[in-house]
Amino acid sequence: MTVAEATHLIEPHGGKLVDRSGPRPDGVEKLEQIALTPRELSDLDMLASGALSPLEGFMARHDYERVVDELRLANGVPWALPVCLAVDREPGGDQVALADGAGVPLAVLDVEQAYEYDKEREAERCFRTTDEAHPGVARLYEQKPLYLAGRVTVFERAEPAFPELALDPAQTRATFAERGWRRVVGFQTRNPIHRAHEYLTKGALETVDGLLIHPLVGETKSDDVPAGTRVECYRVLVDNYYPADRVLVAAFPAAMRYAGPREAIWHAICRKNYGCSHFIVGRDHAGVGDYYGTYDAQLIFEEFEPHELGIEPMFFEHAFFCRVCGQMSTPKTCPHGGDDHVFLSGTKVRELLENGQLPPAEFSRPEVAEVLMQAYRG
Ligand SMILES: [Zn+2]
Repeated sequence: MTVAEATHLIEPHGGKLVDRSGPRPDGVEKLEQIALTPRELSDLDMLASGALSPLEGFMARHDYERVVDELRLANGVPWALPVCLAVDREPGGDQVALADGAGVPLAVLDVEQAYEYDKEREAERCFRTTDEAHPGVARLYEQKPLYLAGRVTVFERAEPAFPELALDPAQTRATFAERGWRRVVGFQTRNPIHRAHEYLTKGALETVDGLLIHPLVGETKSDDVPAGTRVECYRVLVDNYYPADRVLVAAFPAAMRYAGPREAIWHAICRKNYGCSHFIVGRDHAGVGDYYGTYDAQLIFEEFEPHELGIEPMFFEHAFFCRVCGQMSTPKTCPHGGDDHVFLSGTKVRELLENGQLPPAEFSRPEVAEVLMQAYRG
């Protein structure tokens, strides 16, 4: 019996939780060494933990090509974004060491192949734009010219940014099982949680057993709110407004790609590996600028049969406080006009906080606003 059967949790993507961590082999110091970028380091860590199951390493060409063209691995299993390692040239040996930015070796890769790839094509297909102003496209264009594929064995996990929130898929699954949760909804976020997000997550939680608040803590754009501040916001919000036995906050170590619709699928698949049966997809999930249509990240789920993804998306509208309804609402549930709604843009919130003013209580919980104000003024 598998763990999933024993605990009634959803199966990992592809059927089995991958574990690519292992002991440090002899002679690592003699191997050719490749320094990974922050995005590649995040991917490596997620390969080690099984967050990217069924992947066991950086993608070979047959997987890469089919993912770019058809959102599937070579074996037909849905997969939305390349997980690739870019290098300058083909290595001489059949193994290489993968190191962090400081030159500390973390893993070995069994070289399967090195192959050329077309950056513009990848950009067009995966990001729906070839515009260099798009942060994901810019990062892609800066990459080295070849992809190096192969299975990895990770013997040194990178120091987690938030050790108390560092839970691998096996650990979140164990926690869900201990708490008796079967149906768990995952919430991806790279922004501070205001009352709108609180409303969505609680609305979703009303229909399932548990909620995983899973803030992304890998690399983001420099103008996103820093992960440390965001994590503190989640902490005060959950401590004050959520029942402790129905919610788990853990860190999602991925780097943002800003690939909008494709990243929504990718985020959902990863959360399935963490044991989530449901996943919240808001408007413009993982978007940036105006590269994606408001509902593109929801519509893309229609390209798959529900059983293929396994995890069930829960689609939400933007929420606001309506003064007439006297509660949080969305355009789906409130008939009143914009003048009755309390809604602040991210820029407006930032302005208020920088001037030492708290946003209205209908918009932000005071504890969260306090954390943000400290961050902006400190
Ligand atoms: Zn209303």
